[in-house]
Amino acid sequence: MRTAWCRSFALALGLLFVAAASVYGLTLVKDGQPTCVIVTADNPYPSQQLAAEELQYHLEQMSGAKVPIVREADLQETDAVLVFVGQSENLSALGIDTTSLPPETMIVKTKGNALILAGEDGGTKDPYKESYASSAVRTGTLYAVYDLLQDQLGCRWLWPGKSGEAIPQRKTVEIGELDIQETPQLFRRHFRGGYRVGPGTRPYDYVPRYIDSHAALRDRLDQEEWQWKKRLKMGQSVSFAYGHAFTDWMDKYENTLPEVLAMQADGHRGTHAVTYNRNYVKLCISNPKVIDIIVGEFMAKRAEDPSFRFLNACENDGSWGFCRCPQCAAWDKPFTDELYQKYLDLGWSDKQIDDTFAPSDKDNQPGSLSNRYFTFYNKLGARIAEIAPDALVVVYAYSRYRYAPFDLKVATNLLIGFVGFHFYPMDAGTHRAERQNYLAWREADAKQLFFRPNSFYYSFAHGIPWSAAHQMGEDIKLLIQNGIVATDYDTLNGHWATGAPTYYTVARLHWDPDMQVDDVLGEFCDAFGPGEASVKAYFDHWEEVFQEAYAHPDIRDRAKKVYEPGGWIGLFRYAGEVLSESDFDKGAELLTQAEVAIKREGNERQLAHLHVLDLGLKHGKLMWQISRIANATTQNDDVYYAESWPLMARLFAIRDELGELGAANVFWLNYFEVYFQDMFGTRVYQDFFDRDYVPVMTPAEANWTFSPDPKDIREEQGWTTQIPQPPAYMKRSSGDRLFHREWDKFNPVIVWKNTAKKEAVVNGWYQTDFDVPADRLQPTDVLYVPCILGTSAKIWVDGNLVREVTAEEIAANKPIVVGLAEAGIQPGRKFRLTVKVTSLDGPGGLIGPVYLARPKIDIRMRINLKGSATE
Ligand SMILES: [Zn+2]
Repeated sequence: MRTAWCRSFALALGLLFVAAASVYGLTLVKDGQPTCVIVTADNPYPSQQLAAEELQYHLEQMSGAKVPIVREADLQETDAVLVFVGQSENLSALGIDTTSLPPETMIVKTKGNALILAGEDGGTKDPYKESYASSAVRTGTLYAVYDLLQDQLGCRWLWPGKSGEAIPQRKTVEIGELDIQETPQLFRRHFRGGYRVGPGTRPYDYVPRYIDSHAALRDRLDQEEWQWKKRLKMGQSVSFAYGHAFTDWMDKYENTLPEVLAMQADGHRGTHAVTYNRNYVKLCISNPKVIDIIVGEFMAKRAEDPSFRFLNACENDGSWGFCRCPQCAAWDKPFTDELYQKYLDLGWSDKQIDDTFAPSDKDNQPGSLSNRYFTFYNKLGARIAEIAPDALVVVYAYSRYRYAPFDLKVATNLLIGFVGFHFYPMDAGTHRAERQNYLAWREADAKQLFFRPNSFYYSFAHGIPWSAAHQMGEDIKLLIQNGIVATDYDTLNGHWATGAPTYYTVARLHWDPDMQVDDVLGEFCDAFGPGEASVKAYFDHWEEVFQEAYAHPDIRDRAKKVYEPGGWIGLFRYAGEVLSESDFDKGAELLTQAEVAIKREGNERQLAHLHVLDLGLKHGKLMWQISRIANATTQNDDVYYAESWPLMARLFAIRDELGELGAANVFWLNYFEVYFQDMFGTRVYQDFFDRDYVPVMTPAEANWTFSPDPKDIREEQGWTTQIPQPPAYMKRSSGDRLFHREWDKFNPVIVWKNTAKKEAVVNGWYQTDFDVPADRLQPTDVLYVPCILGTSAKIWVDGNLVREVTAEEIAANKPIVVGLAEAGIQPGRKFRLTVKVTSLDGPGGLIGPVYLARPKIDIRMRINLKGSATE
């Protein structure tokens, strides 16, 4: 009776369930024909309408049957199964009122001839786009649909978009008797979106070529990522804005009320160093005026909006510059022998205890400032409790106050952002300490902790196959089972083709924390059909590889051998050195096994999923090869691209395919590489993406001189041939990169402005000596300047002006090309290049270095002459 529902007279509610249902369940589709109808309220929320459409979509993908969606007012008499999606008159008549359920609760329930998919819903915004700080959209009904699709009908969403949909194929779709009601344990289950960076976002302002050319793709992928999160039942019922709360206090109070800012060793108030980010200034938290100001601002907001109840009081970012006044120090608790013994008894090593709690060499303050900070937060909490008992004070357990305080109970109206578990894989000692620290906060009476990890952001497998599913899965289980109230992961960086199982596992456990990690992984790998076991082995292999490579207590020292300044960049670059060809070979072998198995007994969909993993593996190997080349090159070396360029061209071809498939956030990949000082050596591809030239070389970055010329007097003084040695404060350290941003982000300029009390650079001079062997250059090569930020520029070679760049050329974002002969450059002979950039309206700069480059056609001709081809 496929079409009966659409004719005949309107059904009286009381007759709805006269049609007999099977005792064993309901048939939604039979032999590829719909035997059910989806019924919504007459005015459903957007999220309820979407729930109906998602159900319709998946049933059609599964069986070929397009099940109709009707409003209940249009419902005609039918003996089809009625699938009620979302609250409606029909549900009310059945005595079901989802509006009275706890937030985001979902119901999946059969009743007579009906299937009820409903939940607590609220908000009319796009359910796939919960704005970070705006009011939450609650989508219980949507979860009910996804729950049915996942748990009853076996749908999996491996990664965003169609290529990640694993929808079982069957012509008849039946479900058993169901009576499920679930409420999420966390009021917020959140991975921050990986598409926040885009055109107009630094540093894309300056290397926009790849991003701009893919703008439409970016919007699509962004949408698909939100959809994926919803399908995994990520979401929120309460939203609150928080973050480093006092970033403008240096500007506000440096002169007017300096005593609210941290006191430094020399007695001054403010940041501890002129180069230190002013937004990172710390407060003198023992000064009662600090609390007065915060409470005053809260009261003002509360007067405007009486429902305002989340007071953001997170101290500023950065781990240095904390107050040294005696009153603040008096709130610190000495790390006694007794405490030392306590941590030894907990299994900590001496090194761990020292690294965590011993006074820092850098500032001679205690390693942990938690007692100080939570004395402050308790006082603030007490004040707020008096005037606004419903309000919560949002604070961080972060930075130097990340470890639970000693012998101090924290106020119950603190909502504490617990920042930790950053680094996966972890060695056993660190892992134990992280878990103990979380439990210690609970023992300190922290009632409302939300988890704010950077563990996706800092997963050291940028574009390389990786898994930390077991450790990360076990940890989110521990946190949820021990009372965490929300999560906010920074950031869903979207390495799907190389790391999807870890995202999947962590997301999945947010709703079902009692699942075993291996069962979740089994669910993921099940989508590969006969290839399941090999795919499981593939990701277990990578998890072992990274455990082996990274899970050492001395990992930071090891990473310094790859990159001397160490830090996060060192840890990322470490992957290039510590992984081996055989790791990739083993990965390829496992994927081949999966492919053989699927080709024997599986289907095209499973092969398509496997293809994504295969692209991920190829991408990873290229990433690894390219980063090894980058690791072998320091800022003191001239950079030649003959070896790396063909690898990059292949890498970006794979990115294009992965982007189209929705199986990698190619924007994050590019952003991260540019933002973190070109640590993988791929930035040059963004400079040259889609251009008519390919790079041949660029001179060592360390050999460039930079000097400001605010009064525009240096041209006359002969800087065109020789910039004098810059003063000491213009000297740069190895971490200061000259070409990645506008000059105001270059540390020596920050020092120059603060030390020499200068206002603006206005004219920036860049100079270096090139020395290119004759056999490395060809007559058609050119001097190539990909990007200038400013209002005009001039270029000299050996003191001769070879090019004046106009404002129009800069605005057109065209590269500046000067032929070698035109520039008077002869291969094999040293020459001096000088560039003066003028920027009259704000900071400017030479963005990206100057290159020697070759017309693309020449490369092809050369390859043809040699009779070989590249991919
Ligand atoms: Zn102080």
